[in-house]
Amino acid sequence: MPDTTTPAVAAYQVVKQFHGNEILKGVDIRIRRGEVACLIGPSGSGKSTFLRCINHLEKIDGGALYVEGELMGYRQVGDKLYELKEAEIARKRAGIGMVFQRFNLFGHMTALENVIEAPQRVRKIPRAEALEQGKALLARVGLSHRFDAYPSQLSGGQQQRVAIARALAMKPTLMLFDEPTSALDPELVGEVLDVMRDLAKEGMTMVVVTHEMAFAREVGDSVAFMDNGAIIEKSSPEELFQRPQHPRTRSFLAKYL
Ligand code: ADP
Ligand code: MG
Repeated sequence: MPDTTTPAVAAYQVVKQFHGNEILKGVDIRIRRGEVACLIGPSGSGKSTFLRCINHLEKIDGGALYVEGELMGYRQVGDKLYELKEAEIARKRAGIGMVFQRFNLFGHMTALENVIEAPQRVRKIPRAEALEQGKALLARVGLSHRFDAYPSQLSGGQQQRVAIARALAMKPTLMLFDEPTSALDPELVGEVLDVMRDLAKEGMTMVVVTHEMAFAREVGDSVAFMDNGAIIEKSSPEELFQRPQHPRTRSFLAKYL
């Protein structure tokens, strides 16, 4: 039986500062395994920073953050906490897939080489096996005909699908998406959302920062509204969009109607 009781992500009063500036001011959220949690909110509210904290790209300055039941940044032995070393952090980060607004592919590598790079280097998968998995992943995102294409030969939507395949190649238990369609021409948004929709159907735990309200409504199990470094409210898409509880949520959503 998979453990469904431990949340995939649990944040308690998470604080993050940059140069004495408090950017996250006590983020509280629980995301269960298999949940598609959409995170919406104004620009500058701290959404990307929070994703980066989940992925160990930023160290938090207060509160506690658990991923898959494990305290971020520390190892607990009895009642003692030991700060994790860089190598241990890297190992944890490898279990979390992240897809950014900008596709961040390696420009000098083909689509397939991009996908097999980390499994070979980090997971030490033999090349033949990595190639087989990589081809299957590219097929899964609809790119079996573009294995040998370089990023510059692919559309933005295709590049973003390669980026998703590359993240999946590490067999993550959690996928973080930071505005994955914001840099795309409108006609290419749909093909990326389709891949994300399929992933959600397969039961992947996903945290998706997005401005695609239709996607959040349709695919999200929950939607959280973030403003000024805190989660203001989180509920089902229907609740949040039809009956937002907080005036700040209402005024934010009004801009999308
Ligand atoms: P969002 O993704 O919601 O638009 P961000 O998390 O990117 O918001 O940014 C929140 C605030 O944190 C912004 O004011 C931004 O300038 C600041 N910030 C983010 N990263 C850094 C950093 N590395 N150094 C200093 N300030 C930062
Ligand atoms: Mg952002």
